Amino acid sequence: MKRIGMRTKFMLIFIALFTICAVILVSSVFKNGASWSMHPANQDLFTDGVLKYESEISDRHGALLLKTSGGALIYNDSEAIRRSTLHAVGEASGNIVSGVYTSNRSRLTGYNPVFGAFSLNGRGSDMTLTLDAGLCASAYGALDGRKGTIGVYNYKTGEILCMISSPNYDPNDPPAFGDEIPPEYEGIYLNRLLTGLYAPGSVFKIITSMAAIETIPDIYERTFLCEGGTYIDGEWIACMGNHGNIGFESAFSHSCNAAYAVIANELGSETLEQYAKKAGFGETFEVNGVKTSASRIDLEGISNANLGWAGIGQFTDLANPYNFMLLAGAVANGGQPVKPYLISKSGLMPEIRLNKHEKRLADEDTAEALKAMMRNNVIEYYGDGTFEGLHMCAKTGTAEVDDGEPHAWFTGFLDDETHPYAFVVVVEHGGSGLSVAGSVANTVMQAAVGV
Ligand SMILES: [Zn+2]
Repeated sequence: MKRIGMRTKFMLIFIALFTICAVILVSSVFKNGASWSMHPANQDLFTDGVLKYESEISDRHGALLLKTSGGALIYNDSEAIRRSTLHAVGEASGNIVSGVYTSNRSRLTGYNPVFGAFSLNGRGSDMTLTLDAGLCASAYGALDGRKGTIGVYNYKTGEILCMISSPNYDPNDPPAFGDEIPPEYEGIYLNRLLTGLYAPGSVFKIITSMAAIETIPDIYERTFLCEGGTYIDGEWIACMGNHGNIGFESAFSHSCNAAYAVIANELGSETLEQYAKKAGFGETFEVNGVKTSASRIDLEGISNANLGWAGIGQFTDLANPYNFMLLAGAVANGGQPVKPYLISKSGLMPEIRLNKHEKRLADEDTAEALKAMMRNNVIEYYGDGTFEGLHMCAKTGTAEVDDGEPHAWFTGFLDDETHPYAFVVVVEHGGSGLSVAGSVANTVMQAAVGV
């Protein structure tokens, strides 16, 4: 009896071990199978990194963006479309990791964990993106060769309509360079919308305002003195204007550095940092499997003067453009952003998606108050005539940098039921936020409402 007992015990242990191993194997096949079989070295599926199966990636209107056919990649006929959608679509080398051709290639083969990448007729799965190729081409034209990024998304549904990053190149004629990348191609494989980090300048005043609205009870009744700037602890914080006595809302529309440096000091470093984090700083977002770079702020042990600089988006603040596009969409949508996405359909079936949400970036009342202030910026200062026919709500940023002209920012949204679009524009070393990035935003948003 004793021997049988021992044998049963061994048997049970053996069965338990076997079951554990089987579970680990099956779950890792489900989890990693796609990336294992999608490795470009898999010769059943790839020739020189190009998918053998025929499949097509198209824009929201069915325009061809990229087709794999007979081991070759075929792009749209228009160079502007090829260049402007390069960072969203991808290319053969896989250097542009944000491109769906690289980040979501398993979907193009119709891969599933049970049958693998199995095709009877040599055809894979097609993919439809939410992008509007014509709009991307317009945005590419508006950047006019300057480095930077433009993103537009529908803040009610999450569809990304435009995602462009510059510099880019024509995938039909890729640039050849060795290890040393020439300055004009610096960061060329980087998707600046998702992974760029820039000094935000005055677009950061959106966040300082959020904190002020919620924590300084009489903020709307207050006035601040601007004498072309102000002293904080003996250090001069220069303003771009000389605004005299100025109230909160006008200080926002005229982007008064003196007022916001004082406000930042009233808030204190902890409160300002807390609101920056609430607005997405320190957070990595994800778009169809591609992760964004987290915006950065660190105010620990900061001096009062530097806190003044941080409150106007200078000091060591670094912002990710996608974060600000999402924040603009959140303000437009009562503080709760709908999660942006790029792939609307792959395989035979449309993506099954209810609107997914990112974490709330602002309280509802605060979002409403900010929305009114961003609308007021256009009415009071930028001018509705600058954005003819658009119900524009926005904030400029002219971010001073050490290595040349300031980065020009413009972010906001259209308060328009038919065209609920939020956007961000960054023109690197572009100069003025309003005249440079604002003008690019106008061109792009005019094209967006026309499409
Ligand atoms: Zn001022």
